[in-house]
Amino acid sequence: MHKFERPEPLDELIKAKKAYKGTISPEEAWNNFGKDGSRTKVRKQLEVVQNDLCAYCENSLENDGHIDHFKPKVDWKVTFEWDNLVVSCTHNDSCGGKKSKHYESYWINPYEEDPKELFIFRTNGKIKGTTTDANKIIEDFGLNSPRLRKKRSELLSFLTDEFLSDSDTLEYYKNIDYPMFPTAHKQIIDKISGE
Ligand SMILES: [Zn+2]
Repeated sequence: MHKFERPEPLDELIKAKKAYKGTISPEEAWNNFGKDGSRTKVRKQLEVVQNDLCAYCENSLENDGHIDHFKPKVDWKVTFEWDNLVVSCTHNDSCGGKKSKHYESYWINPYEEDPKELFIFRTNGKIKGTTTDANKIIEDFGLNSPRLRKKRSELLSFLTDEFLSDSDTLEYYKNIDYPMFPTAHKQIIDKISGE
């Protein structure tokens, strides 16, 4: 997880928030919002910001992301609240699918708070929290699911002290934009380079 800067909301979202104020159920309003393509526009806007990665696990969305309500759609306000919308992957063992309609006050919305001090990434694919709440977030969001651990370890295991001991190699890998798990890559490289 890393912090994202939220762009200005699209007009479609502003209009929907006004139109559905206190009318039909949030679920119904959200379905209607999908029918004319507005929801797709909002999702695409967020996918650009998130570089086509899930906001929570940083795995590729694989063209299958969905808009996740960080806080569940209990009323029209949170349903169309720009600050409450993120794009998540669609797996059931992690992220939006895992947290489903739950919400906990200690969770970190990556558009609101910077989570960079909360998680330590290992080359074996595992994430460790630096606080009790961070460990609860890892559990609640399934960030150490076997699927994610395996994929992370496959992509991170080449980052070793030995491999990066050559300063040119290290410099090269420090300056890459990683298409997947960018926070994990950067953190491990920074650690090896002593930053
Ligand atoms: Zn995810």
